[in-house]
Amino acid sequence: MTNDLTVTRKTFDDVMVPVFAPAGFVPDRGEGSRVWDTEGRDYIDFAGGIAVTALGHAHPELLKVLHEQGSKLWHIGNGYTNEPVLRLAKRLEALTFADRAFFANSGAEANEAALKLARRVAFDRHGAQKDQIVSFTQSFHGRTFFTVSVGGQPKYSEGFGPVPAGIVHLPYNDLAAAKATIGAQTCAVIVEPIQGEGGVIPAEPAFLAGLRALCDQHGALLIFDEVQTGVGRTGHFYAYQDTGVTPDILTTAKALGNGFPIGAMLTRNELAAHFKVGVHGTTYGGNPLAAAIADKVVELISDPQLLVGVRERSELLKAKLAGLNERFGLFSDIRGKGLLIGAELNEAWKGRAKDFLTAAANHGAMMLIAGPDVLRFAPSLVMPVEDLNEGFRRIGEAIAEVVGATADAR
Ligand SMILES: *Cc1c(COP(=O)(O)O)cnc(C)c1O
Repeated sequence: MTNDLTVTRKTFDDVMVPVFAPAGFVPDRGEGSRVWDTEGRDYIDFAGGIAVTALGHAHPELLKVLHEQGSKLWHIGNGYTNEPVLRLAKRLEALTFADRAFFANSGAEANEAALKLARRVAFDRHGAQKDQIVSFTQSFHGRTFFTVSVGGQPKYSEGFGPVPAGIVHLPYNDLAAAKATIGAQTCAVIVEPIQGEGGVIPAEPAFLAGLRALCDQHGALLIFDEVQTGVGRTGHFYAYQDTGVTPDILTTAKALGNGFPIGAMLTRNELAAHFKVGVHGTTYGGNPLAAAIADKVVELISDPQLLVGVRERSELLKAKLAGLNERFGLFSDIRGKGLLIGAELNEAWKGRAKDFLTAAANHGAMMLIAGPDVLRFAPSLVMPVEDLNEGFRRIGEAIAEVVGATADAR
């Protein structure tokens, strides 16, 4: 215990539970796609707070809602409803297949609700034996114990005791494996239309269509985890809308609140009816402050012009990566959709993604990785083109430095 409240990056190592390894600088302020650290250095933000700040930092219209709703009512508890949450539900339902929404505070909680709902529907309709949840290797669905067990990265669920039963993991994009496994015992299939954390790996359209058909055949529910791909990220409001496949349950979070915590599970009337009063719940979920902000986010991002802009920036960003690849020969693949883009390092650079991330930060650009081999870009959907250009100039410098240092070392 100490009374000295001076803090620096080093303080993190002394006072925080060490589950994260944050960058060496401390962000202090942001505007649009720029961030300034506590030393006053500026960064171009291609990380977007991990695909969250889709309208950039300090968006004036969101600030207005924050101040207005913030001076009216923050939280009231689910013994009461409130107008912002009802408006948000109506807006999301007008944009999607869904008739019903359940609001939570995060992606994991939205998925937790989705998985519990699927189990409950199967239990009510067919009985306790129909409990199998089919998920895919390398998938990511959150860090609560149920969602992390459903996620396809065993290292995240090991060492916490017995994992919930009835979960199987199949290879992603492998329809034959899905056909061989999904059956009468399957209650739900949960899939990301693009695996985000797992390496920015898009699902093949035939894979998603095949999962839909198998779910229909065997009375299982299809859950799309759109926590990362949703809210305009792929250039469509939800990624499913460009796949020809409609899920039974969709989960959304990340960009939904542009950084104010909120998540949601969306579904249809006949499924929602299985969650009766008291069957599931939350304290903060659906609070008026989060809902008012998300309502404005959804209003702004569902604008077709904004979504066209995402697809234009996507082409530009991919072209920049292709340009870097011509200069440096780093990538074996550049993939993804909209502004969720991954660049996979080739054999010569495997395992070095973190080095590029660190070098980029030193040159004033923030980006992400998706595993040790993939650079990931998930910037604001309204990133100014000048910032995109300047950001790639900086990333180019950073890459030149890493490539130069590696050549020297060889
Ligand atoms: C980030 C993410 C989650 C978890 O969301 P949290 O808000 O961190 O709980 C779940 N699914 C996918 C696909 C994600 O990208």
